[in-house]
Amino acid sequence: MRAAVIRAFNEDLSIETVPDPVCPENGVVLKVEACGVCRSDFHGWTGEHPKVKPGDILGHEYCGTVVEAGAQAKHKVGARLIAPFILACGSCPACQTGVSNTCASQIVPGFGTPGAYAELVAVPFDHNLVPLPESMTPALAAGLGCRVTTAWHALTDRANVRAGEWVAIHGTGGIGLSAMLLAKMLGAQVVVVDVVDEKLEHAKSLGADAAVNAIKENVASAIHDITGGGAHVSIEALGIEATTNASIDCLRILGRHVQVGMPAGETGMMTVNMRDIYGKQLSFFGTRGMPAWKYPTLLDMIERGQVDIRPMVSREVTLSGASAELAAMRGPTPPGTAVITDFTQ
Ligand SMILES: [Zn+2]
Ligand SMILES: [Zn+2]
Repeated sequence: MRAAVIRAFNEDLSIETVPDPVCPENGVVLKVEACGVCRSDFHGWTGEHPKVKPGDILGHEYCGTVVEAGAQAKHKVGARLIAPFILACGSCPACQTGVSNTCASQIVPGFGTPGAYAELVAVPFDHNLVPLPESMTPALAAGLGCRVTTAWHALTDRANVRAGEWVAIHGTGGIGLSAMLLAKMLGAQVVVVDVVDEKLEHAKSLGADAAVNAIKENVASAIHDITGGGAHVSIEALGIEATTNASIDCLRILGRHVQVGMPAGETGMMTVNMRDIYGKQLSFFGTRGMPAWKYPTLLDMIERGQVDIRPMVSREVTLSGASAELAAMRGPTPPGTAVITDFTQ
């Protein structure tokens, strides 16, 4: 099969013919129809991600058609499926109590096993996969990626956002934009923060109530003014110290901070204002992914038109075009997500 392989960090992915994946007993091989290009991939491509090494194939945001099924697979050849990025084992205590996104035996393609920047991808634990609704294009399904699912779980199961509350969102990349669209659907008011005016305007055109440019304004005081005393919920969607502190700072008393961005750097250490957390009696949530069982409800809402996530996907690219998308993440990126939909070149 054709695949985009990391040969050296920070250099163009190498388009190569590599052996087809072996079908897992407990899973399937998918012919990949679309695969999102994600900031997590960027961290792998630069060598910052401990599980990504030269020779690896990225790609954890994919959908496709089953071309081979293992003896114990749930799905059959021909099924069109979408996969959550966390493939949970299904049998451990975490999986059996509904929190499969915390499964200790989880597999994430692209981070330790070959991902879907390729014509084919092997998917173990295929009970995590769900049928792709007829009306949803592969590009849109892949565009859901880790971002829409992670944002949905962060808002509903972690922060428990309620209608009428103010939600601040720091970073308007894929996750930030997803969180904005979903928070609006839940009836919240949303203020978005970024350093790129074009992205703030884009977020406002899609429904954000207010926007703050962190270069031009003091984020926390601007948000305190806009929200009349601070946000109820604040979503940190970048994983860096400055925005984590801005998030804590912009909250009102008893506010809820959700750390959605994967903390950058080798150790993930940050200096945060603990006195602010103490003094305002804040809640501080970590979150990662979404249990696969929540997928059908999210897909249903999208199909019913309760939330329009089409603006999430802004560019369809070729397999070889993924390199330029990764390189572009070194600096401020344009709005929306790129999805690989052409695996022939
Ligand atoms: Zn498990
Ligand atoms: Zn992702």
